[in-house]
Amino acid sequence: MDMEDWEQRHTEAFYNAKEALPYLDGMFVAYNSNIDAIRHLTEEDVTKLVGFFDEAEIQERVAVYPREIAEPMDFLARLLISMREGKAGEVPAYTEETHKWLKEHLGFDYARMGGQAGIISNLLAQLGLKKIVTYIPWLSEEQAEYFVNTGNILHPKVENGKVVLKAPAEAFNPGFGSKVNWIFEYSKDLNVTCAGGNFKVPRDNRLIISSRPKWIRLDMDRLVYEQLDSIFPVDGAMLSGYQMIKEEYEDGSTYKDYVEHSVEVIKKLKSLNPELRIHVELTSIQNRLIRKTLLTDIVAGNVHSLGLDTVEVANALNVLGYEELSYSVIRKGENGIMSLYQGAVQLMKDLRLERVHVHSLGFYICILAKGHPLTLKEQRDALLFSSVLAAAKALKGDIENFAEAEEGLRVPVSAKGLEDLENFKLYCTGRKLCSPDEFEYGYIYGPDHDAILIPTKVVDKPIATVGIGDTISAGAFAAMLARMKQIRSGK
Ligand code: ADP
Repeated sequence: MDMEDWEQRHTEAFYNAKEALPYLDGMFVAYNSNIDAIRHLTEEDVTKLVGFFDEAEIQERVAVYPREIAEPMDFLARLLISMREGKAGEVPAYTEETHKWLKEHLGFDYARMGGQAGIISNLLAQLGLKKIVTYIPWLSEEQAEYFVNTGNILHPKVENGKVVLKAPAEAFNPGFGSKVNWIFEYSKDLNVTCAGGNFKVPRDNRLIISSRPKWIRLDMDRLVYEQLDSIFPVDGAMLSGYQMIKEEYEDGSTYKDYVEHSVEVIKKLKSLNPELRIHVELTSIQNRLIRKTLLTDIVAGNVHSLGLDTVEVANALNVLGYEELSYSVIRKGENGIMSLYQGAVQLMKDLRLERVHVHSLGFYICILAKGHPLTLKEQRDALLFSSVLAAAKALKGDIENFAEAEEGLRVPVSAKGLEDLENFKLYCTGRKLCSPDEFEYGYIYGPDHDAILIPTKVVDKPIATVGIGDTISAGAFAAMLARMKQIRSGK
């Protein structure tokens, strides 16, 4: 594959998408958002934190190894464990107590929008889409402040029994608390003294306290559901956050209730606009039952498009019964990309999808069902556009407007990505999935599917990596829908 060709194709695709995006009426985005509060810890901070507690009690708590953060002491214990080993950790907190304590006793350096639906809404708004209708079932006043103020994000609000669309800052529920995830970063060589002991942090890393308030439900307000026509016109829906569904709730409800409601929402969206396309963005889900149910009961046969990274391809294959293929994807190695490709095709077939977009560092693979709505060149353009967005996001941390997205064009195509794809060429041509020429264009014509393979732009020293996956999926999906709309309008 030729590097120069791919640079040129990126540029052309970016400007094609720029022209097409104004044709979109809008996008519906649900369900998850939270606030990420980031604090970089210094030696003084740690000394101060230790000073709030009795050192013997801290030691005891460290020995207990708390698996959830029920009170501030649990946090300190897990922080010390994480720092001692230089190992990343993520621990859930089911109450707000520690959040309040941290706000008062430590504070954060900065906070940003977190959660897939939150990140995707802000991105599409900053790219200038006409309308983004976001639905966050637990939208609080504090959370609403993290939506960008571009005027094109609207949120359903029930007023006197009627659903109206308002800016998030006017649509929140005053009774709701916030879902705040704390991210504590620390650096190598930091000295920690506690309970007479002393250690040096072996490497940079972080501890995350993920907030799981008990009141969180992945669900849609009944009135919003009944008046769902109020969100239209929209051309697509991007749904995420299903990992929040729990097997059982204290009030006796179970995951089955929430799965059923989620599917009703999808069916209603499609009935209100049969042309509407629906994308689900996957993330890692520890609970195998929930992971499997999401795939077989919510995604399969109901939605059109799935976005995920390579680890999630492996995890999905695993619960669908393809264990060997799943291990082969995880192991990477020589057959890694072949397995990834086969795995993505399997997902397309088993889940009856029109499109499976897999992003990896340096290349993307998109499997398309026969009969998908665009040419392979147009599908490729949508992916290349998202590669530019990913580069801009890695470069700048946030893409505030289209001009900033354009800066992604300066980032070179990954040589490693090109090499990985080159190694895949023999597999494709040997199985007659494409000719060597077609491969150069990134086009594959399988017996029961088509596919696009592109090398992507990768930033050497990214200033941020959080949310790049969401950016890629949202950018490509929006660009694809925009091109479909543009064609329909005769352009
Ligand atoms: P997240 O959920 O935080 O977005 P994912 O694993 O879903 O994480 O997505 C990360 C994706 O971001 C990778 O698959 C890769 O395509 C892209 N990416 C990561 N680092 C860079 C970088 N430095 N430059 C460009 N793209 C990157």
